[in-house]
Amino acid sequence: MRKKSFKAESKRLLDLMINSIYTNKDIFLREIISNASDAVDKLHYISLTDEAAREKCSELGIFIAVDKEDRTLTVSDNGVGMNEKELEENLGTIAKSGSLAFKKEMAESDNADGADIIGQFGVGFYSAFMVADKVTVITKKYDSDVALKWTSEGCDGYIIEECEKATVGTDIIMHIKVDTDEEKYSQYLEQYTISELVGRYSDYIRYPIKMETEKTKNVAAEGEEAKYEKVREVETLNSMIPIWQRSKSEVSDEECAAYYKEKFMDFSDPLKTIRVNADGLVSYKAMLFIPSKVPFGYFTKEFEKGLQLYSSGVLIMDKCEQLLPDHFRFVKGVVDTEDLSLNISRELLQNDRQLKVIAGNIEKKIKSELMKMQQNEPEKYAEFWRNFGIQVKYGVVSDYGFHKDAVMDLLVFHSSEAEGLTTLKDYVARMKDDQKFIYYAVGDSVERIAALPQTELCRDKGYEMLYLTDDVDEFVMSAIANFDGKDLKSVDAEDAGLLTDDEKKKAEEAKEANKELCDFVKEAIGDEIVSCVVSDKLKTKPVFLSTTGHVTLEMEKYFAMMPGDEPKPTAEKVLELNPDHPVFAALKDAYENDKEKAEKIAKVLHTSARLIAGLPVSDAVGFCDTVCEFLK
Ligand code: ADP
Repeated sequence: MRKKSFKAESKRLLDLMINSIYTNKDIFLREIISNASDAVDKLHYISLTDEAAREKCSELGIFIAVDKEDRTLTVSDNGVGMNEKELEENLGTIAKSGSLAFKKEMAESDNADGADIIGQFGVGFYSAFMVADKVTVITKKYDSDVALKWTSEGCDGYIIEECEKATVGTDIIMHIKVDTDEEKYSQYLEQYTISELVGRYSDYIRYPIKMETEKTKNVAAEGEEAKYEKVREVETLNSMIPIWQRSKSEVSDEECAAYYKEKFMDFSDPLKTIRVNADGLVSYKAMLFIPSKVPFGYFTKEFEKGLQLYSSGVLIMDKCEQLLPDHFRFVKGVVDTEDLSLNISRELLQNDRQLKVIAGNIEKKIKSELMKMQQNEPEKYAEFWRNFGIQVKYGVVSDYGFHKDAVMDLLVFHSSEAEGLTTLKDYVARMKDDQKFIYYAVGDSVERIAALPQTELCRDKGYEMLYLTDDVDEFVMSAIANFDGKDLKSVDAEDAGLLTDDEKKKAEEAKEANKELCDFVKEAIGDEIVSCVVSDKLKTKPVFLSTTGHVTLEMEKYFAMMPGDEPKPTAEKVLELNPDHPVFAALKDAYENDKEKAEKIAKVLHTSARLIAGLPVSDAVGFCDTVCEFLK
């Protein structure tokens, strides 16, 4: 037997737990009970397919015992239990989920001792040390004959040794601290406090939480005079009705939020809670949550989507991915249906017709709730969009646009006209009578796009433009292509329809007249552009870069950011010059009288166009020298 030290992070967490001036110590019981309930769930789950485990399943439940003399509070479960390795990993190091999230939050917090953020979320097993100066864990794994005892008095480490335990499961024995002036720890040895805490925080736990309680009862036989005596009896403290089974009127928003935070390891209340009570072809109840922040690790490969699937109150699968389409993979929650067989295997589940019906309904429900939010709570929707808009956009382009129609209404964009974000539908409603297309412009930010030379003409016509700032936006536009009978067009598209017949004719003539000059400019600049033209898309600005072919400038930037050394696709760029701008006249004059100067002007214009487009400039020094020469 040797005393082992906690891993460094665990030690720090423990330190905080014990020493921080933390106002809500009560939650330790919820944490310990929730671990016990998970352990029972796990054993139950294993027993669905494992005969031997089934035999070990006695009447599943959680038992609380208080011993005032020893000052101990014990929470026992008959769940999976732990072997030595698990004891080490789970209680000797910081646990994966809740506690790790805690650690991350700590690292990001400015407040070094984090006292005020503890308790915003589940902190797990270590919270026992808030009220106990010594914790003993006696555990026996369901498939093992050896029982183990883990003991710790806090920061200085823990001891693991073999011991006796008749049944499988885990006892958490908390040796309650002595009272101080500020803190009455003894309350945790009172049955009243325990009942109250279980009722408040753990009522929906699906297994009975039992405790032997002392009550004063009338023990007189019928007809006799009342005779009161103290009797001890085992009482079930929780109602065991899972929160999603209780009606909307019975469960407050706060309760739903507390449930969400505890079960799905979030620090913040959900942005939206969605309740479903379906009775029809398939009956089921669901409680779904849209997180208010992007979940930890959301954009990593490790993030698994899915909803918890219960059949008649029993957990069948922790992350049932068939229940959520990818574009809603951020949704968390629970689905409970009576219509599924309990020991259904994963493979069978995949083809289950009922499950498909549920998944379809859930997708519709999430969408309709989001649509409601979009219409009635635009600020909240904007927050949702900031976090998960990109996911919805991927929904438009993925699977060759298969889900396009399902999510299109959810799309919102910045625009040149609307305050806040606008939908395609609202854009169309605002379109001018003579406007044929839905216009968009692309760039790094709203401000940059608004200043782009190629947006001038569209603005001049009084047409609204959608401002696209996400890498995926152009792909989204080409996947949608047409909305409500109107084609989507980039403002600098060849066929953007922004010119009158007269203007077109004038532009053709200007092109013809300046062809030689434009060829000269192309020659001077070289391979960085495919051609130079006089533009029909500019009003007051001298120059911009357009593209031909499939790769646009924004796509080029996007590809350039991708890892790897292989050559990335680039856009075929066209340098467009404004024939009505004074600098064009200067270029023309130089072309006729001083070719060297004309070449310099061409290069300055080209580099300026790259800067406007947000593209890198290879010869910044040369550019600066030439500009300075002109400025002299
Ligand atoms: P979390 O519950 O967030 O993972 P905890 O610190 O509460 O973190 O617990 C760490 C781990 O210890 C749990 O994930 C679980 O594997 C294990 N554990 C805790 N309590 C029990 C228990 N009563 N029975 C079995 N395993 C348990």
